[in-house]
Amino acid sequence: MGTVFDGLLRPTIAAASRSEWIEQTSQRWTVTEKVVRRFVPGESLPEVIRAIDDQRRDGLTVTVDFLGEDTIDEAGADATVQAYLELLDAMPVPASTTGEAMEVSLKLTAVGLDLPDHGHKIAEENARTVVEAAHRRGVLVTIDAEDHTTVDARLAIVRALRADFPGTGTVLQAYLRRTEDDCTEFAASGARIRLCKGAYAEPPAVAYPGRRQIDDSYLRCLRILMRGNGCPMVASHDPTMIEAATILAGEFGRAPDTWEHQMLYGIRSDEQRRLAATGARVRVYIPYGGQWYGYLVRRLAERPANVGFFLRALVSG
Ligand SMILES: Cc1cc2nc3c(=O)[nH]c(=O)nc-3n(C[C@H](O)[C@H](O)[C@H](O)COP(=O)(O)OP(=O)(O)OC[C@H]3O[C@@H](n4cnc5c(N)ncnc54)[C@H](O)[C@@H]3O)c2cc1C
Repeated sequence: MGTVFDGLLRPTIAAASRSEWIEQTSQRWTVTEKVVRRFVPGESLPEVIRAIDDQRRDGLTVTVDFLGEDTIDEAGADATVQAYLELLDAMPVPASTTGEAMEVSLKLTAVGLDLPDHGHKIAEENARTVVEAAHRRGVLVTIDAEDHTTVDARLAIVRALRADFPGTGTVLQAYLRRTEDDCTEFAASGARIRLCKGAYAEPPAVAYPGRRQIDDSYLRCLRILMRGNGCPMVASHDPTMIEAATILAGEFGRAPDTWEHQMLYGIRSDEQRRLAATGARVRVYIPYGGQWYGYLVRRLAERPANVGFFLRALVSG
């Protein structure tokens, strides 16, 4: 059963994420900086490079996301591609002998998926430009999951990219009813799949409405991915999912370099370091850039305590 938070606050916060007025106002408040910095280490390239170095010093590896989504014109999509090319040039890339591969995460709506007329084609071409540049530098690319209306287009683009660059990964969201079937397909094709619970407000026709059902779906999907030939990327901070991943990896005889834990920058950092110290591979998702609003709102919506953190920062700011 959903909580009061699920019933009342989550839709309110989700509506706030679409409010231009709140977005513009809160981006002007210096006080929000305190909250933003917990989840987003910076807006500029030097700031994200520093954050990457900090994580790697702690024995963690990274995936980096240039923030932005729902691009409304081709110029915006081109600017996002350019930002990724600059990021890829600047990223520290470890020698291949270390076995550590850096990664970037990319949202297709940031490179044009929602544009009228040729959005699909534009997004595919732009994503290909990023994937090719990443491949030249030995960096992996994972295509993020957005709301359910974009899943078919995203998976079609991922299949096309994987035909030339099989290392291209994507995200599957356990809250979607379709995801077990998608896991079966991608696990069989040896794909890198990041499994997360899902962060968007979705209708019950397509998504499980309750926490219990979502967790059960996550565990079923995780088993499919661990049993398959690909690289499962276990994107969760939930202790149950983290422990299940370790147990399933053991059950299917997986070596530590054939799967990984993934967590978001600023969330359960001690647990990230603890897991890395056990010899597990742990990748931290680091978002950066000026368009942090949608990302921040999803982090607040995931956890009522974060709303308190936000309000306390406002009062003490
Ligand atoms: C690497 C990575 C990539 C992701 N990519 C996508 C994506 O492409 N598309 C998408 O829809 N979603 C994505 N997500 C978000 C994901 O879908 C969930 O919304 C989010 O991870 C919370 O779910 P959880 O599995 O951590 O479990 P939950 O049950 O939500 O949380 C378990 C525990 O984790 C901690 N926690 C979780 N969230 C927060 C938070 N915001 N602040 C503080 N503590 C928290 C708390 O201790 C909580 O009790 C990604 C998540 C990760 C880790």
